[in-house]
Amino acid sequence: MTGLLLAEANDKFVAMVSAKADVDLRLSDFHPRSELVAPDRTPLRPRFPAIDYHNHLDSMQPEAVLRVMDECGVERVVNITMQTGGAAVEILRKFRAASRDRFAAIAWMDWAGVERADFVSLSIDRLERMADEGARGIKFWKDLGLSVRDASGELLRVDDERLAPLFDKAAELNLPVMFHTADPSAFFRPIDAANERYEELAAHPDWSFHGAQYGKSDLLAQRDRVIRRHPRTTFVCAHVAESSEDLSLVEKLLDAAPNVYVDISARVSELGRQPYTARRFFLRFADRILFGTDLLPEPQMYRLYFRCLETDDEYFEYPSHASRQGRWNVCGLNLPDDVLEKVYRTNALKLLG
Ligand SMILES: [Zn+2]
Repeated sequence: MTGLLLAEANDKFVAMVSAKADVDLRLSDFHPRSELVAPDRTPLRPRFPAIDYHNHLDSMQPEAVLRVMDECGVERVVNITMQTGGAAVEILRKFRAASRDRFAAIAWMDWAGVERADFVSLSIDRLERMADEGARGIKFWKDLGLSVRDASGELLRVDDERLAPLFDKAAELNLPVMFHTADPSAFFRPIDAANERYEELAAHPDWSFHGAQYGKSDLLAQRDRVIRRHPRTTFVCAHVAESSEDLSLVEKLLDAAPNVYVDISARVSELGRQPYTARRFFLRFADRILFGTDLLPEPQMYRLYFRCLETDDEYFEYPSHASRQGRWNVCGLNLPDDVLEKVYRTNALKLLG
């Protein structure tokens, strides 16, 4: 072919198919509008009352959130408080007072005092206190493995044996442990022209973990070691176990560890760009997947989630924070009713008790 192209270098057709643009339009000024004509079957309400298993409501007024929930068919929201200690207790009480049925809570791992010799027993006391206040789980965020340091100044590994009694205690209290370990793959790559989440990372340079001491696969391996080490503890791996770019990894994890659930929060962008694979994944693991959003509770946001899960609409914008996750659109997964009911509701009810 190359020889032919060289020989025909002046041919009109060859010139046409070889032409490339060299423009300096700023990326921030480029907002193409899709010309695709495609139906919009966005549901106003979900097919089944939905439980948002992953959200953060600390700063919000329960009454305002309830209005949104009523408007778009959300039965319950799980507030993963990002506060600890007395501030967390206050927030848990605020939402319980507003409605015990419509709100639930997950506590946030408190690293204050991590340098102390008695840190684990201190953490167990804190966990019991949060459980007494109605928390239905505890979340370990990505700071474990990326920034939390022990007394010696070393990064604390996710699978550090010293934390083991805490995971056993969670099992004893029947509290699921949520892990948000690592982050999207693009966050571990350089912020450059090849990064598919360049604009998002440009808006949030602190979300980049390129060059971190533990890389993504190392962090996930540490997490999976904890899951294997504590078979009696139930784990919820947030954000599709942080492997939505490669669902075969999530399948391996779910196959190997029956004590694991995943939530889909903040990953419609990933699921909806691989609708065939994602649909097969939902059908196979319908009992282990939780609906969650991780975005400000607004009707439009919830309806975009419903659109992605329920419809076969094509090529629409995924729900996202303002800086977006990448320049692509998604397709609906067209999930059947039995799967939707489990994902929206039944699986969460098992964990919330
Ligand atoms: Zn979150």
